[in-house]
Amino acid sequence: MAQQRTAIIAGNWKMNYGPKQAASFTQEIAPRLAALLSQTTSLISILCPPAISLPIVRTILEQTGSTKIELGAQNMYYEEQGAFTGEISPTMLREICSDVILGHSERRTYFAESDELINKKTLAAFKYGLRPIVCIGENLDQYEHGQTQEIIRSQMHLSLANLSAQQATELVVAYEPIWAIGTGKAATAEIAGDVIHFIRTLYQKMYGPEAAATLRILYGGSVTSANISEFMAHPDIDGALVGGASIKPDFLEIVSKSLSVIQ
Ligand code: PEP
Repeated sequence: MAQQRTAIIAGNWKMNYGPKQAASFTQEIAPRLAALLSQTTSLISILCPPAISLPIVRTILEQTGSTKIELGAQNMYYEEQGAFTGEISPTMLREICSDVILGHSERRTYFAESDELINKKTLAAFKYGLRPIVCIGENLDQYEHGQTQEIIRSQMHLSLANLSAQQATELVVAYEPIWAIGTGKAATAEIAGDVIHFIRTLYQKMYGPEAAATLRILYGGSVTSANISEFMAHPDIDGALVGGASIKPDFLEIVSKSLSVIQ
């Protein structure tokens, strides 16, 4: 983890924990999470529950008084309001949270989200004051055919287009190889680090050296407390987007081990 960038351990709860379960899980982990994060200025955590559970999680997080635990949504629409049944707008989210995951591979795969749509959402998130965490990554077939860089290049040029200079420094990218998500087969830190290095180099060509130096790039894909240390120890990796392990107490262990590497 590069020292000049504040690391992030984000938890994507996916479609798990409605308000009741979200409340009891947050009550279980929040005090300990706040205590862990109070030991450093180099690490924050972002919890991303389902939209319906955002308010209760926010209430419980506020009780910890911690400024190091942020709240994020898992998706949003790009319009501010109107006839878009079932969707949630950036302004609605902004009332309640500060971050939003966009372009997760599950949204790309099951809900046919394109890079163009993800770009609209990314620009809308910035416009209304949310920090986007944009997910990119290749599938197994593309990985096995050596197409990772080609896929990443295309996803970045399309989904991260037209950012202002300021926005380009605030973005967070999550490199999530699809073959590693929910499979229990994490990439090695070396594989993830190489792709993340490529992402930063490409980002420098898109937005210049300052933006590339401040961009946080997380790794995501079967991260657990057993493998987080090797990812955090890699100089190019600025943290993790954790799926399955983020809805278990193991999440605290992941944060604790990240702290040990950083300190
Ligand atoms: C994710 O949902 O972003 C993810 C990386 O999932 P998992 O950690 O379960 O592989």
